[in-house]
Amino acid sequence: MGIVAVVGRPNVGKSTFFNRLIKRREAIVDAVSGVTRDRHYGKSDWNGKEFTLIDTGGYVVGSDDVFEAEIDKQVELAIDEADVIVFVVDVTSGITPMDNEVAKLLRKHDKPVVLAVNKVDSNKARLDAVEFYNLGLGEIYCISAINGSGTGELLDQVVEAL
Ligand code: GDP
Ligand code: MG
Repeated sequence: MGIVAVVGRPNVGKSTFFNRLIKRREAIVDAVSGVTRDRHYGKSDWNGKEFTLIDTGGYVVGSDDVFEAEIDKQVELAIDEADVIVFVVDVTSGITPMDNEVAKLLRKHDKPVVLAVNKVDSNKARLDAVEFYNLGLGEIYCISAINGSGTGELLDQVVEAL
């Protein structure tokens, strides 16, 4: 079965996206300590294809203060274990240095990446979203993890790459 990892800096909406998609949570106790401790696993499916979804959210619990090295570790881990990576960014903040850092890592590998521009809740936000083409990761998928808009098109792309 395919593995899809959701990566990105804190507060972009990774967990909101994850919780919207999963149908069954998996309690997997990670053997690796530290940064991987708070990874959440769940099962989902789309277009008849089942996959495991990983929310890589728990960098530093209860803190927005994330060290670049920890982000790097999570992304490297995702690159190792996932078949497809969903890289989530936030249209309301635009491209941040940490987004650029993640994009740089992802561009170094061949792993399929689907770029989700989240919090696109308005037409104005849709216009702002074009900025994210500058991350050099190809097509952008505008979504609203809160109301679900755009997630169908994104998932079409995800399962095609599985
Ligand atoms: P994470 O740290 O990347 O896992 O982000 P969360 O899923 O915890 O979301 C961070 C904040 O963004 C929360 O307050 C969410 O309610 C909010 N959020 C998530 N998705 C959306 C969205 O599509 N639109 C808006 N406006 N807010 C969102
Ligand atoms: Mg989270």
